[in-house]
Amino acid sequence: MALLPTEPLQIVEPLPLAHGRNDLRRSLVGLSRDDLKQVMVEAGLEPFRARQVWQWIYWHGVTDFGLMTNIAKKTQLRLAELFVIDRPGIVTEQRSVDGTRKWLLRFADGNEAETVNIPEEDRGSVCVSSQVGCTLTCSFCHTGTQPLVRNLSPAEIVGQLMVARDSYGEWPTPTADAQRMLSNIVMMGMGEPLYNFDNVVTALKIVMDDQGIALSRRRITLSTSGVVPMIPKVGEALDVNLAVSLHAVSDDVRDTLVPINKKWPIAELLRTCADYPGARNSRRITFEYAMLKGINDSDADARELVRLLTPIHAKVNLIPFNPWPGAPYECSSNNRIHRFAEIVNDGGLSAPVRTPRGRDIFAACGQLKSASLRGRREKVVTPA
Ligand code: SAH
Ligand code: SF4
Repeated sequence: MALLPTEPLQIVEPLPLAHGRNDLRRSLVGLSRDDLKQVMVEAGLEPFRARQVWQWIYWHGVTDFGLMTNIAKKTQLRLAELFVIDRPGIVTEQRSVDGTRKWLLRFADGNEAETVNIPEEDRGSVCVSSQVGCTLTCSFCHTGTQPLVRNLSPAEIVGQLMVARDSYGEWPTPTADAQRMLSNIVMMGMGEPLYNFDNVVTALKIVMDDQGIALSRRRITLSTSGVVPMIPKVGEALDVNLAVSLHAVSDDVRDTLVPINKKWPIAELLRTCADYPGARNSRRITFEYAMLKGINDSDADARELVRLLTPIHAKVNLIPFNPWPGAPYECSSNNRIHRFAEIVNDGGLSAPVRTPRGRDIFAACGQLKSASLRGRREKVVTPA
C-alpha cells in the first residue's frame, strides 16, 4: 500500500526545456533495435554500432555521444552531426517528501502530458501516458473531457520513463536486486494504450530489452478500458500484466461510465480476459473499480463483482473516485468503500483500496495537465 505524503509537494520550476532543437538531426530515442541498426547503416556506419549506441542510450542513460567511450572520437563526432538523444521537455517537476515525483512534460509540438512516480515500500511505479487526451469519454474521467488528442510516439512514451530515471539518478540500469525508486511501469496515465497499440508495443519492447532499461514484463502493467479485440494481441506481443477498467457490474451502468462497453459489453470483455495468457496466481488480472457514491457501490454490486470475477484469475483494485471540477459524481464514503472491500475479500478476491494520495498529488488521468493550464491562466489574469 502506498505511503501517504506527510507534507505538501515541493514544486521545482521552471526546469529548462530539453527539446526545442532547431536543427534537423534525427532523434535516436524510440527506434526499435532493427530500426536503429538500419539508421546506422544508412548513415554509413557499421551495423554493430547500433548495439553499442543502444547500450549507451538505454543502459547508461547518456545523452551525449562524447561519453560513449568505446566508440572512436571520429565516429562520436559523426554521430553527433547526424543524431541526437533527447528527452521530452520538463515544464515542472513536483517533489513530495515521501519520494513521489510528478512531471509535466512538453513534447516538441507543444503538447503536454503528465507522468508520476510513486515509490512504495517495495517498489516505485511510474505512471506513463500513451496519448495526449483520450478519444474515449468515460464519464468519471477528467481525461475523457479533454478534446486534444494525439497518440504519443514510442520516443515520447519511453521518454517519460527516461526523464524519471534522470531525475532519480537511476542510470546505469541497476541490477535486478538493487533497491530502486523506480522499478515498475503502469500504463495508467492519459489515454487508451490499446488505441495506440503499435507505439506502445515498440516503447515497451525497448523498455524490456535486457541490453537497456531491462524491466521484466512482470514489472509492467497495461491498463485498458476494454478494447476487447486488442487484448489477445497484448498477450502475444508483450505478455505484460493486464489491468482492466471495469467500474461496474451491469451493462446498463457500465454503458454510462465506460461507453466503450456498448461496443464490447461485460460478458465479452470477461471472456477475453479469461483467455489472457499467464493469468496464473502471481499474474492475476487486475480489475479497476472506481468507487462512485450511489452508482456502483452497493452490497449487491460487490456480490455481483465476486460472482463475475470468480471464474477468472482476478484481483480487484478499488480506487476512491478522484473528484475534478464539474465531475458528475462523488466518491463513496470511507465506510461504504470498506464494506464493499470486505464483501469482495470475503468472496475470495483480493481487493485492496488504493490509498487516495491522489487527492493532493496523484491526480488520476490528466489532472496535472489541467491544473497547470489553470495555474498559467490565473497568472495571466492577475492584475499587476
Ligand atoms: N485508458 C486506460 C488507462 C488510463 S486510466 C483505462 O481506462 O484503463 C487509469 C485508471 O484510472 C483507469 O482505471 C481509469 O478508469 C481510472 N480513473 C480515471 N479517472 C478517474 C478518477 N477521476 N477517479 C478514479 N479513477 C479514475
Ligand atoms: Fe480514456 Fe481511460 Fe479516461 Fe476512459 S478512463 S477516458 S479510456 S483515459
